[in-house]
Amino acid sequence: MTKPAKPCPICKKARSEEFSPFCSSRCRDRDLSKWFGDGYSVAGRPALPEEIAAEVTGAQED
Ligand SMILES: [Zn+2]
Repeated sequence: MTKPAKPCPICKKARSEEFSPFCSSRCRDRDLSKWFGDGYSVAGRPALPEEIAAEVTGAQED
């Protein structure tokens, strides 16, 4: 039994052994940047109201 070759999830072309499960470094990078894009919104989340309040309070303690 041979497994059917799954295509690249990005562009649906035949995947490459080297860049599996993608067809090329380009598609692999594209997938990575997609994940980084998701992570960026988490990392760059707005400050919590508590954090802002703490910062303002600290500044006014002088
Ligand atoms: Zn591809």
